[in-house]
Formats: sequence, C-alpha cells, structure tokens
Amino acid sequence: MNGIGGREVHINLHTPKDPARGRLIEKTKLVEKKSPHHTWHLVYDISGARFAGRYLAGQSLGVIPPGVDEEGRPHKLRLYSVASPWFGEDGEGKTVAFCVKREIDEHWYRPGLHIGVCSNYLCNMQVGEEALLTGPSGNRFLLPEDPNAHRYVFIATGTGIAPFRGFLLELERAGYSGDAPWLFFGVPYSTDILYDSFFRERAEAGRLRYHLAISREGRTRAGKRPYVQEVMREAIGDVGPVLRDPRTLVYLCGLKGMETGIYEVLGEAAPDLLERHPKTGAPLPRKGRVFVEVY
Ligand code: NAP
Repeated sequence: MNGIGGREVHINLHTPKDPARGRLIEKTKLVEKKSPHHTWHLVYDISGARFAGRYLAGQSLGVIPPGVDEEGRPHKLRLYSVASPWFGEDGEGKTVAFCVKREIDEHWYRPGLHIGVCSNYLCNMQVGEEALLTGPSGNRFLLPEDPNAHRYVFIATGTGIAPFRGFLLELERAGYSGDAPWLFFGVPYSTDILYDSFFRERAEAGRLRYHLAISREGRTRAGKRPYVQEVMREAIGDVGPVLRDPRTLVYLCGLKGMETGIYEVLGEAAPDLLERHPKTGAPLPRKGRVFVEVY
C-alpha cells in the first residue's frame, strides 16, 4: 500500500527501545488569549531521525514522556497525529509539527486535579529541549495514491484537525486540481479555532469549503447545538451530492462521540458510505470510502 503520489508508507522506524530525538524549534499558541483552553503548535527538528521525510499526514508519532507512573514504571508512549505534511514545516520533512492541547481536568469520580502526563510535558517544553519520539504508526488514515481521482470531505473535532492541515498541504504539493475539499470543524468556542487563518485563506481563495461548528455559541437554524453533524446537515443541499459521488472519500478525526451523529447524517444523505454490522446491524464506515481516527 502506498500513500499520496506513491510514497511508501513507513511504520515503526523508531521503536521505544530505539527512539529518535526531536528538538523543539518553534512553539506557538493556537487558541486566543481569552480561551479557557491551551493548545499549542509544536515544531520539532527531526533531521537526525530515520522518519525524517518518511512520515505522512494522517500518521502518528509516539512521544515518550520522561519519568515514571504511579507504579514506578517508566511512562508509556502517547501517540500524536502529525499536523504537518510529509515534507514537514521546512519543505523537506526534516521537521514535524504536533497540535497539542493541555489536558487539565477535575473528575467528579476521583478527587483532585487530573493533569495529563504527556500533553503537559509537551506544552511545558521550551525551545531547544529534546523529546524522545517513535513511529511513525498508522497505515489506514492516509490520502489516496492518486489524489486527483477523488473528492474529499474532512470532518474534525478539536485537535482532530491535525491531519487535515497536513492533508491540505499534501494535496497542494501533489498538484490536486479537483474541486475544493470540504472541511467541517467543531470547537467549543470561537476562541478555540485551531489554524483558522490557514483554513480561511484557502476558503477565501476558493480552495476549501470551510464550515465551523462552534458548539457552545448559538444554535443551528433547526435550534440544535451546532455540533459538526448538525452543521453538515444544514449544508446537506450542497455537500449531499458530493457525498453521493462514488469518487468521494470521507475522513473523520477527533472525538469518538461524533461518530454516531455523523453516521446518521451519512446514512440519510449517502447510505452507500455505510455498511451494516453483520450481527447488530449497527452502521459502520464503508471500507475504502470512510476513514476514521477517533479517541
Ligand atoms: P475540543 O476542543 O473539546 O473540541 C471538541 C468539539 O467537539 C467540541 O466543540 C465539543 O462540543 C464537540 N463534541 C462533543 N461531543 C460531540 C459529539 N457527540 N458529536 C459532535 N461533536 C461533539 O476537543 P479536544 O479536547 O481537542 O479533543 C479532541 C479529541 O480528538 C481528543 O479525544 C483527542 O484524543 C482526539 N484526537 C484524535 C486524533 C486521532 O485520532 N489521531 C488526533 C487528534 C485528536 P462540547 O464540548 O461543547 O460538547
């Protein structure tokens, strides 16, 4: 199986026993000052790694946070989707970016503050410091080998936007000449829109159909909370024919919770995009047409 333009899909060029070193070279806050969230665009120099220039948007790299867990064992690696295209932020793949949100929470079933180990480690890093990286991993959530043979509908929630930034840059580098991809992007507040100017620029140039779903502000015309599936439903007159086109590929990345709602919309507008679970009859994404990366 190959990635965009026939690029080879590499897996596990660095393992936890033999990790690569990535040096943080750029750190930019992606959310506005007023946002209650803290999400960063982090760029690492990976020029010494075997995966330099050999990862693809849609894949993940592992990060091994330093220190030990509650049982005294070294922390396990955590996976982060790359936010870069295969050629990185530098044009050659010697760098890679991640989009990381600090995980800080208070769980009602467990007293005290829950502080995500790896996300806070990464967001606390200072430029010049090094992280241990593994991977790449993932060979399913990738752009097709021949990008011009398809149309695209991308659906993201929160940091699930990462691969779509990379996908758009990879499509552009590959000389994609088809109609503008669709992007439905859900965030809680308008202060939390990640990479907004990147997407807006492309939308204004007619190269992206960009639809935001700002869940905690306003209502849809039908009086619903503006989740991605509801915003998609409102645009169904335009996006429906695209979904029904057998060339169209649909990609979903972000919160697992959005799957049900999205499958409802796909089932109504383009039932061919779904299969049925042989026993339960539950809707499943059709292989080769709908690609899903959710947690
Ligand atoms: P976030 O900023 O909280 O944004 C998520 C948005 O989705 C919010 O607007 C939220 O609305 C909305 N939402 C909640 N439940 C929904 C549902 N059932 N249907 C549709 N929309 C729903 O997101 P985040 O904290 O960055 O989390 C992103 C998730 O993506 C994480 O779980 C992360 O692990 C995952 N992720 C996965 C990958 C991957 O698979 N490769 C990559 C990156 C991120 P309300 O909060 O207003 O309810």
